[in-house]
Amino acid sequence: MTEQEVKELLIKTSAIMEGHFLLTSGLHSPMYVEKFNVLQHPQYTEKLCQELAKRFADKNIQTVVGPMTGGILLAHEVGKSLGTRAIFTERVNGKMAFRRGFSLAKGERVLIVEDIVTTGGSVKEVIDVVKSEGAIPVGVGLLVDRSGGKASFGDVPHEALLKLDVQTYKPEECPLCQDNVPMTKRGSTGK
Ligand SMILES: [Zn+2]
Repeated sequence: MTEQEVKELLIKTSAIMEGHFLLTSGLHSPMYVEKFNVLQHPQYTEKLCQELAKRFADKNIQTVVGPMTGGILLAHEVGKSLGTRAIFTERVNGKMAFRRGFSLAKGERVLIVEDIVTTGGSVKEVIDVVKSEGAIPVGVGLLVDRSGGKASFGDVPHEALLKLDVQTYKPEECPLCQDNVPMTKRGSTGK
């Protein structure tokens, strides 16, 4: 899939919505991203994850790890495509960790996957968990990088199927407000 095909799929499923949105932060934006609008369709999730898997097919990945919640779905599908194990991290008292008996062997080659990164903070925490087990974080696979190119993961290379630079505005500086564009209602578009 090309980046354009990924974008078209996300728009078609309303995972990316264009309009005039009030974000929970109070800022306004011409774009709103709801990943579960695409992830609720297993056949699309599979297709996107097959593309992610392809990007790391020659890296001898042994296990795919994703952070709860969206990362669980992605790890599962990418792992299925690569023929590897798929496990996930979750927060325990706010700290990213493995539970449920999950562990990694020393030197195990790990691919980390996540749906959307804004700052990349959660992915960095997963990398730390992987390293603390003595395993090797070989790469990071992302569905959407909405950091505007700012997210990076030190010496771990990353691939994103779609890169977005999502603009946000203070209400008093919002060009959409200045053009009297009505606020877009959302929440019922996922069907
Ligand atoms: Zn506005």
